[in-house]
Order: sequence, then C-alpha cells, then structure tokens
Amino acid sequence: MARAAALSTARKATRRIMLGNVPVGDGAPVSVQSMTTTKTANVDGTLQQIYALAAAGADIVRCTCNEVEAAEGLARIVPRSPVPIVADIHFHVEMALAALEAGVHGLRLNPGNLRKPAEIKLVASEARDRGVPIRIGVNAGSLHPEIAKRFGGATPEALVESARQELAYFAEVDFHDVKISVKASNVPLMIESYRLASETFDCPLHLGVTEAGPPPAGLLKATAGIATLLAEGIGDTIRYSLTADPVEEARAGRQLLEALGLRERKGLDLIACPSCGRAEIDVITVAKQAQEALEERKIPLQVAVMGCVVNGPGEAREADLGIAAGRHKGHLFIKGKIVRVVPEGEMVDALVAEAERIVAEGIEARMAAAEAGAEDESEADRRDLLRTQGSDANRSEEVVARIRRQLAGGKEASGDGT
Ligand code: SF4
Repeated sequence: MARAAALSTARKATRRIMLGNVPVGDGAPVSVQSMTTTKTANVDGTLQQIYALAAAGADIVRCTCNEVEAAEGLARIVPRSPVPIVADIHFHVEMALAALEAGVHGLRLNPGNLRKPAEIKLVASEARDRGVPIRIGVNAGSLHPEIAKRFGGATPEALVESARQELAYFAEVDFHDVKISVKASNVPLMIESYRLASETFDCPLHLGVTEAGPPPAGLLKATAGIATLLAEGIGDTIRYSLTADPVEEARAGRQLLEALGLRERKGLDLIACPSCGRAEIDVITVAKQAQEALEERKIPLQVAVMGCVVNGPGEAREADLGIAAGRHKGHLFIKGKIVRVVPEGEMVDALVAEAERIVAEGIEARMAAAEAGAEDESEADRRDLLRTQGSDANRSEEVVARIRRQLAGGKEASGDGT
C-alpha cells in the first residue's frame, strides 16, 4: 500500500513525553490532536464526540475544564475514552488540580492568564507527583501583559520568553515533563515563533495556528503554518484550530501528516487528473462517486481516476489502483499495470470491488490475478483513441499556428519586416 516518500529534512531532536500511551517527541510519530466543543459536563455527548474524533484520526483529545461540573465530567470521561484526554485550563488553578484528580493524561496551562508563580508551581508539583505532562500553551492573543509590554507586543521573542519563564517555574519544583506551543493567528508570526522555540528548547513542540477560522481559508492558514514547520523538521504534535465540526480538524491533521509521509496511510488518498481535451469521461463526477464509495468503505489506498487511457495509467503509475477511461470502457490498473478492462458504466463499481480485493489479498496477489489479454485490449483501445483524437487532443498546436499566422499578418499589415 502506498506510503509517501519521507521528507528529507531530519526531525529536530526533542525530549519525549507520554500522554497516556501516546508518545510525543524524540522521533515518535507526529500525533494529531483536536478539542471537543461539547460542555465537558455532558459526559455522553462529549464521549460521542471523542469517539468521532478518534475515528477521524485524533490521537489525543483536549476538553475544557472550566467549572466544577466539567472536572466531574472528566472523571467519568477519562476511563471510557479511547484516546488520552488533556484538560484545557485558563485562569483557575483549582480547575487544574481538579482535572489532575479526575485522572487526565495531560494539562494545558496558559501562562498568559494563570500568572501567579506559587500557583503554577503548585500545579507542576502535583503533575510531577502524578506523572502527568503539561503543555505550556502560549498564545499571541493572550500573552502575559508584562511580557507584551517588555517586548513591545506579541513578537516571536515575547512568545518564547513567556514559555521560558513558565519552564523556569516548573524547573524550580523539578518538573520537566513538558511540551510547548507558541501559537498565533498570524501565520508568519506563528512560523517565526516556533522556529525560535525550536532553537531555544528541547521540549517537544505542539504546532497550531490559533483561531484559523472556518474552512477553506482556515484550513489553508493552518496548513501553511503547520506544514512549513513540519517540512523543516519542527513539530511533534499538531492541531488544526478550525471554526468547524472538530471532526474536520482531526481529519485535516491526519491527512496532512499522511500527505507529508509522516504517518502511515490510514484513509483514502484519491488522486484524479485535472481532465483535458482527451478525457473520455466526466472526470469530476466519476472521481466524486469513487471518493464517496471508497471513503464509506474506509479503503486505505491511493486510488487514481484518470480521464483517458492514453496517458492515465502512466501518469498515475505510483497509485495503488486506478481507472482510466477508454472508448466506452474503463481500464483498471494496479501500479500502472492494466489488470482488467470493463464497460464504461461499471467503472466505479469495478474500482471499488478491486480496492476491496486489494485490501483483503494484497497488491502482489491482485497484480498476479490480472486478466489474460487485458494489457493487449487496453493497448488496442489506447491506439484507437490516439488515432481518433490525434496527437494534439487539446488542439494546442492549432492555436499556436493561428497565433503565428495572426502575428505574421499583423507584421505584414504594419509593414514591419524586421
Ligand atoms: S491526458 Fe488524459 S489523463 Fe491526462 S489530463 Fe488529459 S484526460 Fe486526464
């Protein structure tokens, strides 16, 4: 099954922490996080969302712990959760202590609004005794006022200083089980802040563009920030902060890591040609039908839908499986090799059936089971298409010739013979 080539940049060395059974840092697979949007006191509703997030690719889920009822909810949620739970703490030290008592696997503290050193050290001591890691979650929008004043605003240096100060409080009570985030909604500021954090600390980094907003702009902003840093080897765990169903956050996180080759493919990767004058089918419709059917069956393959057999199987030879349109036929191929030719009306069904067989039997076995004569039939269809479409199906050369004629005519009319 397809696994993207790995990024050539080495991952930045960081220390390892454990969130429940999920390792973060020191070469562990980059993990995906998301956050519930339910009231944490609503135990069943929150658990339902946690299960949906885990199914969509979240390795770790954060829940707010903002009131007594939320802490009580956490006590009931944590034992039933399929993934480690992190409690999100703002302002209230007693909520951090209650969340620890509830058995959470991690805490997130915001140094911008939990500012008293004695309280910070109290939480760190309690977390140390329980073996629970803490994320120092610095946010450009809620930066410690003194630090913002000292640095003239939310600069990368100011964000990193806020984390450094918190880390120093933790060190005073011998607590080092830490990861750090320096989030901003401004993408360049976020990138620069994490670069500086990566140079400054050896703790694992939790990446995110905060308040990225609704998709698609939010997805693009978050991807711009997170992917840039991951490609530089920076980042150990990620969260998309979207104004959307959090399932979209988890899915996006997972898809990004798979696209960068940082996690094994768990879901479908559908590729499709952009279509052109050679296309023998409506590529957009067929790709959509295939995507829906394959996603419903949770097929973990890279599958290609290509508009023509002239170029399709060759262009998509890296895909695990694909279909390319011929003259009223569909050409099914595995790793670029034609294995079967089916009637046009059966293209999607044949693609889905073959995908299921690959998952059950493996790629090698399905290539070995290629129908005799399929390659020859496909080649004949391909030649037929080439003959009828010609070698310039997009009529580019015709247009070029027309432009040349026009220009030559213009020159003659203007008498410019140079
Ligand atoms: S040449 Fe064929 S496979 Fe390539 S874009 Fe055109 S229709 Fe799609």
